Amino acid sequence: MVLRDAVDARLGRSAGGAGESGPHSSLGAKEAALKRWSVVCEGAAGCGRNLRWGGKLMWRWSTMRGRTVGWLMMTMMLVLVPAGPAPAWGPGGHVVVAMAVAEETGASVGSDYLALQALYGAAAPDIAWRAEEPLRSALGAAMHDEPGYRAPWDLASPWSSVQRAFAWGWLTHNQVWGADYYAHIGDPFEGTWPAAGPGYVVERAALLASSQGIPEEVAHNYVEVGIDLLLDQQFPGLALGRLLRNAASYRDGQVPLLLVRSYADVPGAGRWTIRATELEFRLGLAVYGEGLSWPTGQDDAAFAAGMALSYGLTGEKSAACLGAAKALCREPGAHYLEALEATVELVAGGPWP
Ligand SMILES: [Zn+2]
Repeated sequence: MVLRDAVDARLGRSAGGAGESGPHSSLGAKEAALKRWSVVCEGAAGCGRNLRWGGKLMWRWSTMRGRTVGWLMMTMMLVLVPAGPAPAWGPGGHVVVAMAVAEETGASVGSDYLALQALYGAAAPDIAWRAEEPLRSALGAAMHDEPGYRAPWDLASPWSSVQRAFAWGWLTHNQVWGADYYAHIGDPFEGTWPAAGPGYVVERAALLASSQGIPEEVAHNYVEVGIDLLLDQQFPGLALGRLLRNAASYRDGQVPLLLVRSYADVPGAGRWTIRATELEFRLGLAVYGEGLSWPTGQDDAAFAAGMALSYGLTGEKSAACLGAAKALCREPGAHYLEALEATVELVAGGPWP
């Protein structure tokens, strides 16, 4: 059976029927395992001693949900979705890849709290895209490419399980052999590393750009957000939005210190810029997760409205781009789940340091 068929066949049961037999290698078959991670990570929300300002902020935020002010703030905050050169997979895609790679490789981080640090690490190299040029490009290369991407892993204290968990997640993201390589550079359907290009997100973005008449960098962001919305809507049991929000809210205070040790020496950076940029990313991730956790339809509308403001498009045009991106990512032969699944297999195979 074609894997996509197997995955699609499972989607209707995904809310309550996870865990039955299925092709071992498919994301659909991994859903039960992914859901365990998701439930585990949600459990950390009950851990009061770890409640930091992010958690409090999100609690206040959630009390506003459903109100007009909540909607308006949400739309305005989504303007913070980074414009310009694209981050490849969205944070939802990165977190799902990390969870599936952990299952595939048998990696265990030991606790709910540490799992959230690993998931935050899986999304975190895109901190770079929150900086202004020319630092943005310098930091982007340092955090994604050889040799800088390894810095948090190499510099993490062997005595700190928080730092090791974060750095493990960070490693899954890189553009040398990690998830971003198969979004940008190498076609995951080739099934090899290295692979001929382009990567899946770049290839879909080019199609979207020509069909909608928008720049490729903008199309790239619509593809990413479209994939994250599809993941959240097709696998509701994962509660992906809540997972991203929790990963942001509960990220440990050791994380920015490790990032300062790793990247403060990048030209134009410095410790306070790294800390401020990471904080902006963290807040953006929490808001992004909140947007994803809205009911299907409202989430699409919120992202379309926020992205319209970011890219100077009308609301209608933005909604059309998002809808077209989602449709392109479900095309036979280029289905996003197959691309993610192939990415998981390849990233699990390394080369890990
Ligand atoms: Zn990235």
